Amino acid sequence: MSPAVCCRCKRLTAAPVPVRYIERASGPGWTLYACPDCAPHLTPGPLPAETAPPTHG
Ligand SMILES: [Zn+2]
Repeated sequence: MSPAVCCRCKRLTAAPVPVRYIERASGPGWTLYACPDCAPHLTPGPLPAETAPPTHG
């Protein structure tokens, strides 16, 4: 696993966690990574579209 920039805090992390896969109509997609600190705050899984469920605030 090579370092990647966290998509949430924009910091370089040596242990990136894949949180989302971005698909493009033309060309290959890419994966968004988050640092271990931000990963729990992001929705896991390559969901194409996610509804907004009621949260606890
Ligand atoms: Zn982060």
